[in-house]
Amino acid sequence: MRIAIGGITHETNTYADACFGHTTVDDFSITRGEEIIDRYAGTRTFIGGMLKGAERLNAEVLPTFSAVAQPSGTIARDAYETMKTELLERLEAVLPVDAVGLELHGAGVVDGVDDLEGDLAGAVRALVGDKVAIVAPLDLHGNITEQMAEVIDLMLGVHYYPHTDMYERGEEAVLATPRLLSGELRPVTHVEHLPMLVPPACTDFGPARSTNELCWKLEAGEGVEDATFFHGFPFTDTPETGAHIVVTTNGDAEQAQRVAREIASFVWEQREAFKPETDTPELAVRRALSAERGPVVINESNDNSGGGAPGDSTHLLRAMLDAKVTDACFGFIYDPEVAEAAHRAGVGATIDVHLGGKHDDVHGAPLALTVYVKSLSDGAFTYTTPMFEGVRTSYGKMARLRVEGVDILVGSKRSQTFDAEVFLLNGIDVTRYKIVALKSSQHFRAGFTDLAAEIVTSDAPGLTTERVEVFDHHRARGPLWPKDPSADYTA
Ligand SMILES: [Zn+2]
Repeated sequence: MRIAIGGITHETNTYADACFGHTTVDDFSITRGEEIIDRYAGTRTFIGGMLKGAERLNAEVLPTFSAVAQPSGTIARDAYETMKTELLERLEAVLPVDAVGLELHGAGVVDGVDDLEGDLAGAVRALVGDKVAIVAPLDLHGNITEQMAEVIDLMLGVHYYPHTDMYERGEEAVLATPRLLSGELRPVTHVEHLPMLVPPACTDFGPARSTNELCWKLEAGEGVEDATFFHGFPFTDTPETGAHIVVTTNGDAEQAQRVAREIASFVWEQREAFKPETDTPELAVRRALSAERGPVVINESNDNSGGGAPGDSTHLLRAMLDAKVTDACFGFIYDPEVAEAAHRAGVGATIDVHLGGKHDDVHGAPLALTVYVKSLSDGAFTYTTPMFEGVRTSYGKMARLRVEGVDILVGSKRSQTFDAEVFLLNGIDVTRYKIVALKSSQHFRAGFTDLAAEIVTSDAPGLTTERVEVFDHHRARGPLWPKDPSADYTA
């Protein structure tokens, strides 16, 4: 069996266009051919899982083209067309294949193409024909469309947020291909849309967890291949923005619709429980200071680069400095200018900087600080979080700056903080601090829950604020909860 692997992955925050402009080819990290195997084999990623699945099937892998970018604004049309053309050309060059494993997100938006995944998978389908199996692992933040269901045989969204099951879902998608090819599995997929903007919802507890449990219970039923709750991506304005239940059965369309509607009704009835519990930065800092023991992890949810925010908000750091906290570390704030200035000055220097707040007025003004350069690094390390274990990454030139009682890490590439490795890289053992602040909405939990005495969520204005109702969805098909109380769902 011959399986082609490739994809274009982007979570598009259309509100970020005002902050960064359009996303270009240069914003994507692109790997081609065998480079894909070098980079992802053995890693806990979608492609790592798909490669493992192919290995278990003794299949020949044809790696084509993979492009992935940090979440940001709408993808420029020419950038998308360039990447799509190369993916299709590389796929055509390795035909014939029995199956295609596509790494997709589900919330990709291109200037003039609202549904990147439906468009790309449709082009792949047109190229390979109906006899080839197309499978796709997806992010649960995908805004899933009928077009996707039409052209992809099997879509498997991650169940967990933090997404610790990317590897397993990638593997499962590829392992299904023999049954798709033999006709043992004749997939029929129903997408049930919910007019809901789901705030970032961890699946370790609360309504997101109980919805998963219902999905698994119904999935155990005869004929149900998969049932997944896609939270959707609220930080984007397209007609399909919302939550989605995707159910695939073996040949029974009525059953797929019935199961999807049962889950959708369950989510809708519990919608109030999805409203987040967060504090203002000032309250979050006070709560951390009053904790009996540390480390208390404060996550700045409003400035999550993993959802398209700039990563240089000063709201939480300002509150920490104003409260004169000591025994605290902050990892990290995105500011290449300050990182560069620290590298030029060198270890042991004291410099004046304007830190962060350089993209817009929403994320707070720059902080005027006199800082001591404690250490410098190249920002390169390997993740240990169960989400991305084994993936090599770099946050670019980094500096550890000391300001009174706070060690502040400054990086040169946008990212949320997934695990404690970035602190270790810069000489910080987070378990020795009372307060550990970072920027992330939920993914940090996979790397920090075990070592945190307590987790406190700080929210403020920002492109990924948990107050999803502050965003206008002009292009929505109808009213969306919680912004509009007239939003309604009946199965
Ligand atoms: Zn996600």
